Amino acid sequence: MTNKDLAELIFPEITKTIEDYEKEYPARNLVEGAKVTRFAPSPTGFMHIGNFLSCVIDYVLAKNSNGVFYLRNEDTDKAREVENAVAMIMKILAQYDMLPDEYETKEEVKGNYGPYIQSKRKEIYHTFIKYLIQEGKAYPCFCSKETLEETRKSQEQDKVRTGYYGNYAFCRNLSIEEQMERIQKGEPYVIRFKSTGNFDQKFVFDDLVKGRMELPTNDQDVPIMKSDNKLPTYHFAHVIDDHFMRTTHVVRGEEWLSSVPLHIDLFRAFGWKVPKYIHIPLILKKDEETGKARKISKRKDPESSMHYYEEKGYPPLAVIEAIMTIANSNYEEWHQAHPTLSFIDFPFSPKKMSSSGAFFDLEKLDNISKNYISTLKKEEVYESVLAWAKKYDASFAQLLEKESLRSLAIFNIEREQKKPRKDFKNWSSVKPQISYLYDSYFFEDAKKTYQDLDTEEDISLLEEYVSQYEEKETENEWFDAMKTFAIRHNYAPSPKMYQENPTLYKGHVGMICEALRHVITGRKESPNLFQILKIIGKEGLVKRLQFYKTSKQ
Ligand code: GLU
Repeated sequence: MTNKDLAELIFPEITKTIEDYEKEYPARNLVEGAKVTRFAPSPTGFMHIGNFLSCVIDYVLAKNSNGVFYLRNEDTDKAREVENAVAMIMKILAQYDMLPDEYETKEEVKGNYGPYIQSKRKEIYHTFIKYLIQEGKAYPCFCSKETLEETRKSQEQDKVRTGYYGNYAFCRNLSIEEQMERIQKGEPYVIRFKSTGNFDQKFVFDDLVKGRMELPTNDQDVPIMKSDNKLPTYHFAHVIDDHFMRTTHVVRGEEWLSSVPLHIDLFRAFGWKVPKYIHIPLILKKDEETGKARKISKRKDPESSMHYYEEKGYPPLAVIEAIMTIANSNYEEWHQAHPTLSFIDFPFSPKKMSSSGAFFDLEKLDNISKNYISTLKKEEVYESVLAWAKKYDASFAQLLEKESLRSLAIFNIEREQKKPRKDFKNWSSVKPQISYLYDSYFFEDAKKTYQDLDTEEDISLLEEYVSQYEEKETENEWFDAMKTFAIRHNYAPSPKMYQENPTLYKGHVGMICEALRHVITGRKESPNLFQILKIIGKEGLVKRLQFYKTSKQ
């Protein structure tokens, strides 16, 4: 009996060869230097910000080099799989305008290197596992969970390394006859990769972020095929896929770094070229309580999930920009120097990535987002707020549509000017900031806002102002009229004049403006009063003043 007989016994239905697959998935016809990257999530229904960081890097590397970015569904862990997880990922990628060039969903397959769903690639994996068995590089292991658990405990007691290696690799040297007999009898087994490594020797490889790495050589006989559903493990499947999907750069979390020696051994077992590795650091944040850096946590930090950014209504481009600044800290500087270029033009350098941890802070995102929103046109802001509200605040959406002209005027306050107002950080924060400009919200809230404001205004002065108020074309004209009104009522036309001669005046023009602001907005601060008066209009002013009057009685 030979290894070939064993391989035939395990995989009688597999007839294809390695060469067949090399022909089926030929080298990609791309320009020199083009990078092929992949986003390879497990379909758990949760997209972590760390996944998104690797995805943005994948996307930039591929687009920047006229390469290919593809999505691969790594669904070999059926217990963790969540229905529609890939559709959710595609939806997120679409929101960020980062759809992959190749992918597979329930509805369609795009690309010639699929299937892009690992569970559909069983036959491919089996071909390669069969090959390894034939070559004596893999073998069936019949050890039960209990045996493995007992071994681990005794290794711990004896203070030796745990795992399936050396003399602990019990099934490594079973005779082919015994292996075949036990399989024929129906004993369950996994397939393990037979390691030839020596743990005491260093394994050297280059990571594009971390630089030259020296790790212990792998000597564990790691499972490559599971027993129950005959699906491969991640370690094995991704090697086959990255080779045949012709991946040039593997971008993934640094939790995989310690497995690289095993992965490279697997590539070498087939004589394949090893892709370049970009292991991205953990995403860190400053802990609010301790002030110390810690890993962003799925459990404690809502911002660890990409869903958070959608719900809060951050513009996708702002999120991408914030992510780019943690990918390479010189991104912002580059962006300022090249405001018309897209993030995909950025010469991302893995070497410049922090290797110890990437800080992500929401305040930074808020600033980037405020800057970005301040560059948008009023129509763009309107459309974005409306789209957000349609999903998360239906009554606000209705109001925005009903009062579209007023809304556009509101979103135009201090916009489209040299130094636009940077007031909105995301779409969910818009309504509380502007609600007073809509009558329906204003009259609902004004009693409370007047109470909070706690001021006593000169009602008769304001009544007179409102009765003579005329809308003016320019801010200068309006303010000139305001000054004339002030002088007529013995208020100084400037704070300076009032300060110089306080006994001569009742106050100054700014005080009238402030009183007016209090009454018509219910707030101490507001954007440009001239523009607000225009939006509220004379009729609105009369109503609001009347309301103030009655609420003070
Ligand atoms: N499926 C793996 C994960 O979600 C992907 C790792 C990789 O990108 O190779 O962690």
